[in-house]
Amino acid sequence: MVDEWKFQMDHRSADLKVGSPPEPDEVKRRLFFGPWSKNLSRSRILENLYMVAVGIRPASMFHPLHIREMVEVRRAAESVSLGMVSRKAGTKVFKMLIFSSGRSEMAGSVPDLDESMGHREFIIAQITMANFTGAFLSFPKCCVDSFVGHLMSATDQDAQAMKDLWNTEDPDPAAYFVERFVPCTPLCENAIREGNRIEAELSEMDPDLLLEYLHLREDHMEEVREGRIVEEKDARNAILEELASRR
Ligand SMILES: [Zn+2]
Repeated sequence: MVDEWKFQMDHRSADLKVGSPPEPDEVKRRLFFGPWSKNLSRSRILENLYMVAVGIRPASMFHPLHIREMVEVRRAAESVSLGMVSRKAGTKVFKMLIFSSGRSEMAGSVPDLDESMGHREFIIAQITMANFTGAFLSFPKCCVDSFVGHLMSATDQDAQAMKDLWNTEDPDPAAYFVERFVPCTPLCENAIREGNRIEAELSEMDPDLLLEYLHLREDHMEEVREGRIVEEKDARNAILEELASRR
């Protein structure tokens, strides 16, 4: 049993090797009714875990809010034989990658990053990682390129995405196909195609989960439209600046 200390002291020792997940009905039973189900968001359970375990998506990634969430996600992933690695994406930021067997080798090559390498190097490392995770998660290339473009020009992708959405008359929630994925434009055809594909696969596999997914997707789009991601980032930056000024 891995606890919070394990993640804090040696997060790599908490990595999980991928096995063979059970049948979709059993995956659903374990993920949605296991002891972690009360503590994890529906997006974690449905998008980060279920969709990967049943083969709808090859892998998923998220930034955990706290170490408790990492412990719970690890337990859930282990219960359905998914692979998992957690890596540093900054001094105080983790990312967790969850994957099926086709992504094992890639997952093993993810490095830990932090700002101590120097500002310029950190930006370059982030760009390299953005390209890597885009491929790891099979995100549309146009959307990954757009994200990388913002990193290179130090512009705010989320602020831009919010404005684009305000200016789009009839946006399609399918383009916001998993939490925190931001399409290159609200009407990106490649992103919409991926959203529609997930929808079709879920509707065949489990109509109840399809409904839940459609609600989540609406919410992902709203999150971008209302600038919730921008607000969160501002709050985090304010904390980091506050910490830096105390040094
Ligand atoms: Zn795109």
